Amino acid sequence: MKCVRCKGKGIIYLKRHNAAFCQDCFLYYYNNQVKKNIKRHKMFDKKDKILVVISGGKDSMALWHILASEGYNVTGMYINLGIGQYSDKSQQVVESFAQKNGLELIVKDIKKEYGLDIYKLSKLLKRSTCSICGSIKRYLFNKVAYDGGFSAVATGHNLDDEAATLLGNVLSWEEGYLARQSPVLESTHPKLVKKVKPLYTLTERENLFYVLINKIEFLHDECPHAIGARSILYKEVLNRLEEESPGTKQRFITSFLEKGRRHFQDVQEKLELKECSICGQVTTTEVCSFCRFVRLSNQNTEN
Ligand code: SF4
Ligand code: ZN
Repeated sequence: MKCVRCKGKGIIYLKRHNAAFCQDCFLYYYNNQVKKNIKRHKMFDKKDKILVVISGGKDSMALWHILASEGYNVTGMYINLGIGQYSDKSQQVVESFAQKNGLELIVKDIKKEYGLDIYKLSKLLKRSTCSICGSIKRYLFNKVAYDGGFSAVATGHNLDDEAATLLGNVLSWEEGYLARQSPVLESTHPKLVKKVKPLYTLTERENLFYVLINKIEFLHDECPHAIGARSILYKEVLNRLEEESPGTKQRFITSFLEKGRRHFQDVQEKLELKECSICGQVTTTEVCSFCRFVRLSNQNTEN
């Protein structure tokens, strides 16, 4: 197996590109992909302040590392969601990486700062822990980005995540979600910060190689609530297709972005955006879900 670029010894074979790379040329390829994605979708430039969503897993750690190495003005943000050992371990990994590399990091702890417990809320509201957790994360990342004057919130979503989400949305023709599935989600309100996904053309495996080559510490465990999630089944199905026909995932995403997405533009949810009467953040109801969670948690401790 020879590296396609330098003809040296290849160490990673990327079936969908029918190309093998040596370590240095793989890093060149990886960097190039990220740079191209940022430029092609006008995600941000070196003058922008970027808030990077960090979970401690390989994808977000790879994103943080590459953006910092390329000289972007990045600040990591980690939320401790109170998910037992998983949260404790991931916080340690993230804090130690920031310290060793002299990177800015914002840490939020939903239990300590807001009295929120995703398990109690899930029981009280009869909603899944992931749906409660997702609302809290979306709220806090946007709020911190808006309050801190950040130009964009960057997440480590990779090609496998994006293809699985697209498959899920196509299977139930979720028109609103299909309209919004994109590597860049522009702001639709002055208090909503743009969301970007610079790694959307790179696979989980490529991110793993990137962190291993750069000796970046990351949390190997998945969140315990991810086990059994529908998205994992979609990933397995797509992996099977990819085996038979390399490049399926990338074609699925790129052709959707080029040809499919525009058909959903006029079904962009026509929800009226308001400002929450308590915190002022953007919502579609009088009081946003985050403030309702806080109120409910506090009522519940008083009772
Ligand atoms: Fe939150 Fe669910 Fe993701 Fe775990 S898997 S971090 S509970 S959204
Ligand atoms: Zn609110």
